[in-house]
Amino acid sequence: MPRTEPIKAVRGMRDLMPAERALWRTVERAAARVARSFGYQEMVTPILEHTDLIERVGTETDAVAKELYRFEDRGGRNLALRPEATAGIVRAYFEGHLNQGPQPARLFLIGPMFRYDRPQKGRYRQFFQFDIEAIGADSPAVDAEIIELAATWLREVGLRDVALELNTIGDHKCRPAYLDLLREYYRPLKDKLHGDCQRRLETSPLRLLDCKVPQCQPFKPKAPRITDHLCDECAAAWVLVRRVLDAAGIEYRLNPYLVRGLDYYTRTVFEFYPGGASGQQDALVAGGRYDGLAEAEGWRSTPGVGFAGGLDRVTEVVAASGAEVIPEPPAEVVVLADPGLEVEAAEVARLCRAARTVAVDYEPKSLRAKMRSANKLGARWVVLLGESEAQHHVAQLKDMASGAQVEVPWKQLAESLA
Ligand code: AMP
Repeated sequence: MPRTEPIKAVRGMRDLMPAERALWRTVERAAARVARSFGYQEMVTPILEHTDLIERVGTETDAVAKELYRFEDRGGRNLALRPEATAGIVRAYFEGHLNQGPQPARLFLIGPMFRYDRPQKGRYRQFFQFDIEAIGADSPAVDAEIIELAATWLREVGLRDVALELNTIGDHKCRPAYLDLLREYYRPLKDKLHGDCQRRLETSPLRLLDCKVPQCQPFKPKAPRITDHLCDECAAAWVLVRRVLDAAGIEYRLNPYLVRGLDYYTRTVFEFYPGGASGQQDALVAGGRYDGLAEAEGWRSTPGVGFAGGLDRVTEVVAASGAEVIPEPPAEVVVLADPGLEVEAAEVARLCRAARTVAVDYEPKSLRAKMRSANKLGARWVVLLGESEAQHHVAQLKDMASGAQVEVPWKQLAESLA
């Protein structure tokens, strides 16, 4: 028979093998625990959304438009794999009537996102985010609350050395006049800017501030700053966010070049970076306020604030920091039975499972080989079952660390293992 090539994983997609998954689980559990401790409830939205939902709120971002995984389904619908969680959660907030409940709705979601980006280290086409959203939240104190939530999560997973960058980008009242000032400042410099920035100058001038291309850097320090041009409400919000953060003892660096390109983003923007590095590296967490998003989706104008934490990035930094994650053994107890005792071995395992994680070694190998493999698995106990033990409904319980072995009636196995 001709040998066929084995089929490999899709480009940009990766498997998380059990050894890695242990760290991921720790990071996800910390996310859920911290979110719950701040009164946030978990929800799940579909991975597929109408392409329109994503494009209506994201056409202007090069990222979302260019990187969208989109396709036509068998019914001719234009669908997309979600590139981020916020658009879907805001949709669900209205469709699921959370808008009629107590405000704000404090929500979290952990799940895969998809972007058809060029795969590289730390950048995948399927990646995972821990997403926090407070929808219907007007108070700037909630902006500070989610920043504290993110800081708590990063601390709990063992990252002590993270840098928080903070800025405000005003709102629909004060931003248009500021953008005019920014355009006026940059127009005479247009020829000196790189191509993308020349194009963005008229359509999305805020993006000139976060440009990383060297030739555009010299003009930034003299550019007008939005913090000098905020309306009264945005100025008051900017003060309150920082007062709450100061009282919480959360350090931050004001970064006037931290912006978002879309109109629906308002006021607070923030990012957490590892180890004091910023700009050149991927953020661990990125978030901010999006008071114009609900309206952009066609719903009633509703304020909101949230963040997305990259689990791929956070687990990578935790692993590199040498934080010790003790891997869970596949099973704490391994049942080793003589040949022909499969039914009894399964029953003994069932009883032990009341107390511990249990696997049975059914393979046709010698007892020595089975002991070796139980040892490799990291089992803390083995339960040995021979013909005469099976007849008397007893088993030998062996502690792998001490080597001590005792005979235990089946009915007392769970108690002995507790
Ligand atoms: P964003 O939604 O682009 O603001 O990103 C929020 C978080 O998701 C950041 O921490 C990024 O590191 C992470 N992230 C974004 N895109 C990818 C990707 N392609 N692969 C892995 N992580 C990503």
